[in-house]
Amino acid sequence: MSTRILILGGGFSGLYTALELEKKLGTDVDITLVNKENFFLFTPMLHEVAASDLDLSAIVNPIRKMLRKTNFFHGEVEQIDLDSKKVYVSHGTAHHHHELEYDHLVIGLGSITNFLNIPGLEQRALTMKSLGDAIYLRNRMIANMEEADFECSSDRRKPLLTFVVAGGGFAGVETIASINDFLREAIRFYPHLREEMLRVVLVHPGKVILPELGEKLGVYTQKILARRGVEVRVNTRVAGLTDRGVALNDGTTIETDTLIWTAGTSPNPLLAMLPCMKEKGRIKANEYMEVQNYPGVWALGDCSVIPDPKTGTAYPPTAQHALRQGRVLAQNIAAAIRGGKRKPFLFSTIGQLASIGRRTGVANIMGINFSGFIAWWLWRTIYLSKLPRFEKKFRVALDWTLDLIFSKDLVQFQTLRAPVMLGENHNARMLEPEACEVRAM
Ligand SMILES: Cc1cc2nc3c(=O)[nH]c(=O)nc-3n(C[C@H](O)[C@H](O)[C@H](O)COP(=O)(O)OP(=O)(O)OC[C@H]3O[C@@H](n4cnc5c(N)ncnc54)[C@H](O)[C@@H]3O)c2cc1C
Repeated sequence: MSTRILILGGGFSGLYTALELEKKLGTDVDITLVNKENFFLFTPMLHEVAASDLDLSAIVNPIRKMLRKTNFFHGEVEQIDLDSKKVYVSHGTAHHHHELEYDHLVIGLGSITNFLNIPGLEQRALTMKSLGDAIYLRNRMIANMEEADFECSSDRRKPLLTFVVAGGGFAGVETIASINDFLREAIRFYPHLREEMLRVVLVHPGKVILPELGEKLGVYTQKILARRGVEVRVNTRVAGLTDRGVALNDGTTIETDTLIWTAGTSPNPLLAMLPCMKEKGRIKANEYMEVQNYPGVWALGDCSVIPDPKTGTAYPPTAQHALRQGRVLAQNIAAAIRGGKRKPFLFSTIGQLASIGRRTGVANIMGINFSGFIAWWLWRTIYLSKLPRFEKKFRVALDWTLDLIFSKDLVQFQTLRAPVMLGENHNARMLEPEACEVRAM
């Protein structure tokens, strides 16, 4: 029987492990990858889907088209038993259960949003992590403008046209910048609304936004956003979310319908059941990505803590680390199967970039700061080159080109059932279409 390698998670870490294993081991081994979605999501461009810059399928790739020698299991991991070397998964609308056995287990299950127990967030806040989240946010912005345009909603206009993003990290800043551009462009098509009616607020607990890029670029970003009408509230925390709006720790409340929460993450809750060593809920692995006391078990990406031998601290949870960890891990698994030397994961962040709207960006590459058009151009060029598959690169480049000519699309992506007839002939009844919101995946 050939060696069974089971990969949990089809994000940056899991997918790139599988791609590299296919190259290194081909069909000599039996590789299976389990993922909840049947696609790989390119998160760095997620905000562009929310803001109608890109079509919703442009930044996702079907896993089956990317992996040719790996068995793909579209389903949900429910339980991992490290002692019996079994993983329990379910799939399909009826949630059939299966038991998958392994010789090597790769855990790349990523992280989830953490609302930090702040009252009202779990029930009401929007998140920005999945494709569904981006579609939901886009729909919400359009629905709010549609409603606010009517006279009967004039007393609800304020909360409908106020949008708050919590968290001044990369995800929060890129989200606020792109939705601000979208709203200000789209509002022209609503005859009873004016740009001055919009309120777009970024709430950040630290002194300066984008702390990863240093104070200079953070302050620059704040100035650019403020010039474009975004209210940036630093040294401020969200204290709660009610039907009146967002309560802040300075005692004020922002009247709004929409809070997008990007300010907290937690390791995947499935890890809580694992008996292996953990740090703040993430699996502790060594520099080879091996999990101590469990030979053949490996962990990487956002759900793991991998030490940087140069600094002794853990590598940051980013896509650029996760995908490179995947490549090195595949070599280590190949070495474990065929014999050979394992490689420690060694990587220094090359640079970090953020797109802050209207052809402006900020970047720090190899210690050098860039801002303005050049940083935005670098952002687009680098991320376009990283987006997997030529077809998707082409679609994104095409969308970006068309964006220069046409205004942003205002169509809502709804999954509405068309009206149907019930009963026979004259007694037939029309059923109202049933609105089912796009599920956050
Ligand atoms: C909006 C946003 C923007 C970002 N921008 C950048 C950026 O510009 N640059 C950068 O370097 N990083 C960026 N990141 C961070 C980057 O996305 C993560 O660091 C990276 O995705 C981590 O890879 P991973 O494989 O560990 O986890 P993920 O990519 O999250 O993959 C985990 C996979 O596991 C699957 N999964 C989880 N639970 C189960 C289950 N029970 N059963 C089956 N499947 C399951 C998930 O569906 C997912 O496909 C961004 C993140 C977000 C949210």
